[in-house]
Amino acid sequence: MRYVIIGGSGGAISAVEAIRSVDQESQIELFSDEATPLFSRVLLPYYVAEELSKPLLNFRSADFFEQNKINAHIGVRVDEISVNDKTVLTEAGDSFPFDKLLLATGGKPIVPPIPGIDKEGISPLKTMADAERIYHLKGKNAVVIGAGSIGVETSISLKRRGMEVTLLEQLGHVLPTVFDEEAALIIKKRIEDLGITTVTGEKAIQFTGNGQVKSVVTDSREIKCDMVVLAVGVKPAIELAQKAGIEIGLLRGIKVDPQMMTNLPDIYAAGDVAETYDISRDSNWINAIWPCAVEQGRIAGLNMAGRKISYEGSFRRNSIGNFIGVPAISMGVTRADTCSSCEGGEAVQEIRKRTKETYKKLILKNDRIVGAILVGQTQKAGLFGILLKRKINVADTLPVLMSKSLNFMDLLPLIRRNADQFKEAEYKEIMDTGL
Ligand SMILES: Cc1cc2nc3c(=O)[nH]c(=O)nc-3n(C[C@H](O)[C@H](O)[C@H](O)COP(=O)(O)OP(=O)(O)OC[C@H]3O[C@@H](n4cnc5c(N)ncnc54)[C@H](O)[C@@H]3O)c2cc1C
Repeated sequence: MRYVIIGGSGGAISAVEAIRSVDQESQIELFSDEATPLFSRVLLPYYVAEELSKPLLNFRSADFFEQNKINAHIGVRVDEISVNDKTVLTEAGDSFPFDKLLLATGGKPIVPPIPGIDKEGISPLKTMADAERIYHLKGKNAVVIGAGSIGVETSISLKRRGMEVTLLEQLGHVLPTVFDEEAALIIKKRIEDLGITTVTGEKAIQFTGNGQVKSVVTDSREIKCDMVVLAVGVKPAIELAQKAGIEIGLLRGIKVDPQMMTNLPDIYAAGDVAETYDISRDSNWINAIWPCAVEQGRIAGLNMAGRKISYEGSFRRNSIGNFIGVPAISMGVTRADTCSSCEGGEAVQEIRKRTKETYKKLILKNDRIVGAILVGQTQKAGLFGILLKRKINVADTLPVLMSKSLNFMDLLPLIRRNADQFKEAEYKEIMDTGL
């Protein structure tokens, strides 16, 4: 068997490990167009903040490829997949045959068509090269465009290394897709308390400067700066798949079946590039987070190596607490009115509890949790996740779930009553740790 893996990040490495858990001998060729292998993207903001040095970003040891007998082609881009010949072609024109192929090409940062976007000093934060560029940029004033998780983390990282930072968001509040207005108010206050200027509801319309960026012009002000970090989102890197005739889904990710196989036999996809089943939405979605890429890579790898196993689906989870200094977790859908699976007259409700420093909201569909926002008080967040995943009816436990002094003993009757809904290992973990 000859395996070819395109990508070298969370999804790809997890797939390689899964293949090796079944098949220790077959040839594996791995291609990554990034020059630095085996670093965790999740940790890049800490590198930008000068809190972690480059070696500490690694999520596998430097001899990983050697240990796992993988021919790693680092810094090599695959330009084409020939489906008929079952080969991939690199940018240098070298051809490699495959019996099983995995596309773990991830996402690409969105670059908005704003006049002046190509000026020096403007960069996304996606790759190690981006992080190094931002790390070495000179100047005192930074503007971060986009207040999603990466934008917020990057703003705080730049502030931590002594810069003056403005965080600019065109929508009405920070973290617009992962937290609601109410939670965002608490989080915004924390961000501002850290010394960051936040501007919401304003759009960047131009970058000025003669070569080097000097300011960001919005619809109502001009913000002087020496650097700009673009954090307006990522989109699946589907070009290679598209060119090969692999089916693309409605969300512009690669469509896969529960074994993570595309519409073409022997070609699989996993991670930020793939559209997969989202448990909270009860439909396909792209949950572009590290744990989902790793789990999908594992499922793809096992299937590629001949172990038939299905992906259960995932749901989004975001935690921003490490950066803002207050625990803040969001999972699943954030608002009932944006929940596509909540349409069609099903019983949907939002339950909220707000104090000065804390906020808790549950989004329920037919008495099952499909989303949760927890700010300032995140006890039992792991258990909330499992209740969501296993679609447990929580109707008669709602007062307990919403209570400030939530503790394991109060949840025990619900867990015992639904013991057969949990996986054995999950149930053991709940009982052993209380999560
Ligand atoms: C700054 C930042 C912070 C983040 N923080 C978090 C966090 O706190 N928690 C969390 O869960 N997630 C976080 N994420 C998201 C997380 O990093 C991604 O979900 C995860 O990396 C996806 O893994 P992947 O393997 O699908 O793809 P990627 O990590 O995108 O890797 C795909 C790789 O494939 C390579 N590639 C693409 N096309 C080709 C080709 N044709 N030939 C060769 N190589 C190719 C790419 O260059 C890239 O190296 C963060 C992301 C960023 C950028």
